[in-house]
Amino acid sequence: MPSTRILKADPNQPDPEVIAEAAQILRGGGLVAFATETVYGLGADATNPEAVARIFAAKGRPSTNPLIVHVADRVSAQDCVMIWPDQAEILAEQFWPGPLTLVLPRSRHIPDIVTAGQNTVGVRVPRLDVARWLILEAGRPIAAPSANRSLGVSPTLAQHVLADLDGKVDLILDSGPTTVGIESTVLDLSSDLPTVLRPGEITMEQIAEVLGETVVSLGHAAEPAKSPGQMDVHYAPRTRAYRVERDNLPKSPIIGQFAVLAIGGLPEGWNGPGNSFTSHGRLFVTFKPIYASRLLYFWLRELDLLGLDYLIVVAPPDEPRWRAIRDRIWRATRPW
Ligand code: AMP
Ligand code: MG
Repeated sequence: MPSTRILKADPNQPDPEVIAEAAQILRGGGLVAFATETVYGLGADATNPEAVARIFAAKGRPSTNPLIVHVADRVSAQDCVMIWPDQAEILAEQFWPGPLTLVLPRSRHIPDIVTAGQNTVGVRVPRLDVARWLILEAGRPIAAPSANRSLGVSPTLAQHVLADLDGKVDLILDSGPTTVGIESTVLDLSSDLPTVLRPGEITMEQIAEVLGETVVSLGHAAEPAKSPGQMDVHYAPRTRAYRVERDNLPKSPIIGQFAVLAIGGLPEGWNGPGNSFTSHGRLFVTFKPIYASRLLYFWLRELDLLGLDYLIVVAPPDEPRWRAIRDRIWRATRPW
């Protein structure tokens, strides 16, 4: 493939000519990376198996990992699935466009390669206009995983996409930084109880309240693993990255060059005199979940470029509003 092109596209009011050009690439079976409110996606025509195969090749993604299908509206989502239960209607009304993926039995419009051979498909309507307009203009559902190399950190800037996929994607639409910054909540509506497969900005408590029924979680990375093999490293930087709980900071001095990401604020006693843990590292702090999720991947990628010996992430408290961020931290780091 010739080198990757980059075009600016306003996230809320993209130039129609830019959208038309990008949509034409998608209709022709090519790959276009675009911003959603969560992270940048690597898009292809979901109804074209050869186009979708290019996504797996570009990312180095195992063919067993299904892709989320992005659509412009609820009616298009219904075309991708076999049944549309009341729960889906209620959740779509409340949370779409937005960072909630619904897993439902797939329709025959969705080929095997998209769902990794499963009989369910994950669908969502993204909130950002640039994404929705592009999908509308392409006139078909768009399969789009995060636009990074498999197992790496998801991209929240167009430059991140270029760093990972230069020469492997036809066009990148640069719409600036994404606002949510972590991937969508994935909710399975195809089993007996609504089940959160991946936590995100929209919490299981919010979903349960809107549905008025019990919602369960498959267990996420920040919970004790049901089996050790579940703790897959994903979203991980190259630098050795460790996590510590805020009430259990390292007691002895740390040797070497490191940076500390304190997510959820500085732990108690942090700045006490002679605290060897903090005396010579670079320190980054966020206090609120919205800023932490927006900045986490950006920091992981930026700090990865510095060639430090360690990254140390101080985890936020174990509370519902921090659950998705703890999940991503657990996947990106090892215990200290
Ligand atoms: P990514 O697009 O890289 O953010 O990853 C998509 C994730 O969505 C996958 O790793 C799955 O966890 C989830 N997903 C997508 N489609 C399905 C499906 N049909 N069944 C279960 N999970 C899905
Ligand atoms: Mg991904």
